[in-house]
Amino acid sequence: MAQVLPGDPPPVHDLIGIGFGPSNVAMAIALSEHNARVGRQETVTAHFFERQPAFGWHRGMLIDDATMQVSFLKDLVTLRNPTSEYSFLSYLQSKGRLIDFVNHKNFFPLRTEFHDYFEWAAAKVDDMVSYGHEVVAVEPVLRDGVVEYLDVTARSRDGLVVHRARNLVIGTGLRPRMPEGVERSERIWHNSDLLAKVDALEGTDPSRFVVVGAGQSAAENVAYLHRRFPGAEVHAVFSRYGYSPADDSNFANRIFDPEAVDEYFTAPEDVKRKLMDYHGNTNYSVVDTDLIEDLYRRVYQEKVLGTERLHFHNVSRLTGVVETPERVHATVVSLVTGEQTALDADVVVYGTGYLPADGLALLGETAGLCHRDDEGRVRVERDYRVATRPALRCGIYLQGGTEHTHGITSSLLSNIAIRVGEILDSILDRTPASSDAPRPLTDGIGTVR
Ligand SMILES: Cc1cc2nc3c(=O)[nH]c(=O)nc-3n(C[C@H](O)[C@H](O)[C@H](O)COP(=O)(O)OP(=O)(O)OC[C@H]3O[C@@H](n4cnc5c(N)ncnc54)[C@H](O)[C@@H]3O)c2cc1C
Repeated sequence: MAQVLPGDPPPVHDLIGIGFGPSNVAMAIALSEHNARVGRQETVTAHFFERQPAFGWHRGMLIDDATMQVSFLKDLVTLRNPTSEYSFLSYLQSKGRLIDFVNHKNFFPLRTEFHDYFEWAAAKVDDMVSYGHEVVAVEPVLRDGVVEYLDVTARSRDGLVVHRARNLVIGTGLRPRMPEGVERSERIWHNSDLLAKVDALEGTDPSRFVVVGAGQSAAENVAYLHRRFPGAEVHAVFSRYGYSPADDSNFANRIFDPEAVDEYFTAPEDVKRKLMDYHGNTNYSVVDTDLIEDLYRRVYQEKVLGTERLHFHNVSRLTGVVETPERVHATVVSLVTGEQTALDADVVVYGTGYLPADGLALLGETAGLCHRDDEGRVRVERDYRVATRPALRCGIYLQGGTEHTHGITSSLLSNIAIRVGEILDSILDRTPASSDAPRPLTDGIGTVR
């Protein structure tokens, strides 16, 4: 462990955020609004590291006609502070589209429009972030036998920088999930690669795509590839009987409410499991009804016209995927009859979901000071603070990866505005009012080492 030594310590912040996706952009905004309200003594200093070169939210899936699956009112701020200047409505006003949006009478903006909103909001707080900086290590810094700070090392094109934190907020998001043993490549994609890779096919006259999965992303890939390549077949392969609709009905939607987090958090383990079983279909392995109907309309129309190029292999799975320089050879196996169908394709796309990035993986030896439950899952308090041994004085907060403790909103946008307010309150509550705790030594970017 590093010891605090006299000399030239790294810049110290009350909070360092890892990742600058919507969760930590919202965190930066909450801090900014807090700092604007309070006197200089109560200012919370913060810095964020983001590995992407600029703000980007699931860029590979910014399909031009895809819409949000959450109301625009669940933006980065509104549920916490409806008068915030960082709201989606303020964004619309600044773009001169407020009245047009009102006339649109729609709660679900285009995904590209919400991306633009996120970018606009992130730019307003970009004095707090270093883009192109991937956090590669977190090391505890001891003072009198307790961990007083965490040293966060980030790697950029120019080398390594180290900043020192009293609190960490880990918002590293989701990572694409591929089936066991399948590697991503030029012809084998995860759906998150779609827009980054698809342009390279332009002019190559692809004849066949295979898309694996029955969730929203898989269905969007099927629809997109079918539309974009009118000469190609698209084969959807999934183990369900058919696409299942996302339950976005009024009462079920309450599972995303701030109060639902309280209830979920306090519920016994078996009730938590039941709630996920009952209401997983608000989010997981489900598809918007409009998209289901659109796909069905297309397949029926092709049947009528006798030009069938959209195919659905239900109750099936894809096996034996082998890539050659020109094609991907794969086999569809019926789970009912065991019948095998060979499918050669230009590209196989896996719409097989995402896993939460394991935030604690970055913590190195500090992870050993964090408590885990009987199933090895990280223990997290109601305020999103990781339960740790007393020897760790710093706060480690999780934005994401808390579905087992806080419920289904863990990886979603629905509760971000409220969650960052709760994290900020927790940090403020735990900061001694008139303390002899050392205040920030410097601000800004640390030295390259
Ligand atoms: C295609 C798609 C559409 C979605 N649409 C919706 C929707 O409509 N409604 C909804 O509620 N949810 C939606 N989601 C869920 C999604 O998780 C949230 O929208 C949102 O991305 C969560 O924000 P986040 O900041 O927690 O994570 P992310 O957006 O994943 O951001 C995490 C950030 O951390 C960065 N990072 C990771 N590791 C490091 C590191 N070591 N160092 C530095 N930076 C790092 C990443 O580059 C990334 O920018 C969607 C997800 C996908 C994939």
